[in-house]
Amino acid sequence: MFGLFTRIRRFRLRERPLPPDWVGVLDSNVPFFQCLGEPLRAEFLELLKVFIWEKHWIGAGGLVVTDEIRVTVAAAAVRLVLHIGLGPYDQLSEIVVYPYAYRHKDTDGAVLGEAHTWGTVVLSWPDVRQGLANPQDGHDTATHEFAHVLDIAAGSFNGTPDLQSREDYRPWARVLERHFRRLQGAKRPERQVLRRYGATNEAEFFAVATEAFFEKPRQMKAHLPELFDVLHELYKLDPCDGKDGAPTGRRLRE
Ligand SMILES: [Zn+2]
Repeated sequence: MFGLFTRIRRFRLRERPLPPDWVGVLDSNVPFFQCLGEPLRAEFLELLKVFIWEKHWIGAGGLVVTDEIRVTVAAAAVRLVLHIGLGPYDQLSEIVVYPYAYRHKDTDGAVLGEAHTWGTVVLSWPDVRQGLANPQDGHDTATHEFAHVLDIAAGSFNGTPDLQSREDYRPWARVLERHFRRLQGAKRPERQVLRRYGATNEAEFFAVATEAFFEKPRQMKAHLPELFDVLHELYKLDPCDGKDGAPTGRRLRE
């Protein structure tokens, strides 16, 4: 998956002690952290350290990137790969954070976040905070952008991340394509669970479906069970649904 030097570097980063403030940040900004029981919580914190110390963090628009920002953003990234390991983020080198929803010169709308194929994720800090603080509204900017990174890491930007085996691709393509088309057609079950923005293209559908998987798992399971199943197979995590959503304690792989 990755080279010897990366493996050694990551091993050393894992060995470094956890900064004392980080758990407090997770407790106040990241509600899903409460759902992580052992041994997932310990693994989550290890991956969090590696992710934070490996990436280059850049404040834009006058923002100074604090540990609170790093820990909160990284939490969203690490949740997606808790059972996969950090491999999908190997090509991601920098995370740019703005203090507001910034604007492109060439677009009218405010941009809440972006993932670039050349290894940069751009985020608006207020939107990251808000997305994680409301864990059940199906909208989570950081989760959305890191889902794009998983997609990009698989080689193209088309809503298909790396799946475990070749056999997994057939049901994946069939299920995602069908729900994508139905969302474009504004079918009711899809609209109840997924943001309309997911109808833009397959890549956006995957990112929006990932947001809903983590934020509206009960609704997705009830209304779109096949979509829930393929995403569950990918992330290998039972999302925290605020009620009985304790994640599974399945064995972890690097
Ligand atoms: Zn997107």
